Amino acid sequence: MTISSRLPDRVDPRRLAATQARLEGHWPLTDLPRLASSLYWSRDSADMADARLVLDFGEDEQRRVVMDGQLSATVPLVCQRCLASVAWPIHVTVRLTMVRDDDAAAEVPRDREPLVLDDDSLAVGALVDDELILALPLAAHCNNNDCSRSEPAPREGGKRRDNPFAGLADWKRGN
Ligand SMILES: [Zn+2]
Repeated sequence: MTISSRLPDRVDPRRLAATQARLEGHWPLTDLPRLASSLYWSRDSADMADARLVLDFGEDEQRRVVMDGQLSATVPLVCQRCLASVAWPIHVTVRLTMVRDDDAAAEVPRDREPLVLDDDSLAVGALVDDELILALPLAAHCNNNDCSRSEPAPREGGKRRDNPFAGLADWKRGN
């Protein structure tokens, strides 16, 4: 499979693990509904259309299916200080162990993330959507030189209430 191919919607992880298969390809950001709704599309973001995925399947010592994935994308966001569009790079490393139920999930080593599969297939799009949305920043900031100068003034109403003990502290210090 070449880097230019789109990965299938669903794969059979057990079968891929048996041959230690690597899936390499892309996934359109517009086909990741949760992520896409958090992005800010403009004419400049046309070249940020795809996430690149490399998914390596295998088995651990207990014959559980494991998948190590590298997900990368450059996503269009808006700078929360100056509202300029920002091309935000995301790179996520995913280390999954696939299990049947919550009991089995509890047995998965701490350095891996358990994924309970309802059937024998793995929904690639849903997985990528979840992982990439978790990697979005709480507030994106750009690197423009004039960005910080246009920082909006602090909002009214965020002012701290006066500390009723402040006067007391002054009184103590004064003695
Ligand atoms: Zn900015």
